[in-house]
Amino acid sequence: MDFICMNSKDLAIQEKMKIKNLIQQKNIQPTLAVILVGNNKASETYVKGKEKDCQECGIKSIVYRLDENILQEDLIKLIHTLNNQKEINGILVQLPLPKHINEKLVIESINPNKDVDCFHPINIGKLFLGEAIFQPCTPSGIIDLLNFYNIDIYGKNCVVIGRSNIVGKPIALLLTQLGGTVTICHSATKNLSNYTKQADIIICAVGKPNFITEDMVKNGVTIIDVGINRDLNNKICGDVDYNNVSKKCLAISPVPGGVGLMTRVALLKNTLNAYMLQQE
Ligand code: NAD
Repeated sequence: MDFICMNSKDLAIQEKMKIKNLIQQKNIQPTLAVILVGNNKASETYVKGKEKDCQECGIKSIVYRLDENILQEDLIKLIHTLNNQKEINGILVQLPLPKHINEKLVIESINPNKDVDCFHPINIGKLFLGEAIFQPCTPSGIIDLLNFYNIDIYGKNCVVIGRSNIVGKPIALLLTQLGGTVTICHSATKNLSNYTKQADIIICAVGKPNFITEDMVKNGVTIIDVGINRDLNNKICGDVDYNNVSKKCLAISPVPGGVGLMTRVALLKNTLNAYMLQQE
């Protein structure tokens, strides 16, 4: 069976161009403050990616590189300062934070109108009510990808695997709001295949290579692979045994080149959106 590879490269370029054009037309300068604490290598890479994305679209990014041992109160003080600076539209604290810092308190200290990651409880609450001002980045990227490839969600059986606050729970909510019938599976789910075999759409966010195998899915399924793992050759791979599972798929997102790029685009959209909201 021919399947659609839901590559996001073209869509990501297209979405970035839209943002860039709008910024140029309106002659505006949305600004994102990124806070990076310590020397976590993966975090450093993510932050560099965010700086590059912003630059490509004409968004100004200011990165605050803070010492690993910074006091929690000093970090929160910086966030309060940024909350009060009119020229800062979005604030993102790169996670994870060092163990001596309470992530929850830090996230809650961000002004919800500048919370471009959509992690603040007020924004999560608004999302729950269908009144979100920001969309959480990975779930938003997933919906954009499904839309781009004309995968209808309305009335479909959707199985989300993973129940994290940043992917599993919010994507389940968005799919529900878009008319999907959603089942959330997780580490305590018994007989996972019973659920996945019924699914028209599977969103897998587990973090284990080859977690989804051919025998677990039905013909014609659409799979969004959120996982980011390393295979035995240390190459980036997702959660799905892509080569074998794709044969049964209507559509499947690759790793790399699928959800990751769209997650990055969603942050840019949220930053532009934050700017617009703050002008009202
Ligand atoms: P997490 O790492 O916090 O948790 C993993 C989830 O998998 C849990 O909810 C757990 O219940 C579930 N799980 C574990 N074992 C299971 C099993 N045997 N059966 C069913 N469910 C099981 O989740 P996360 O932060 O959402 O990350 C998941 C993966 O997605 C990771 O690989 C992460 O790197 C990746 N990720 C990618 C992006 C992106 O932009 N592409 C963004 C966020 C996370």
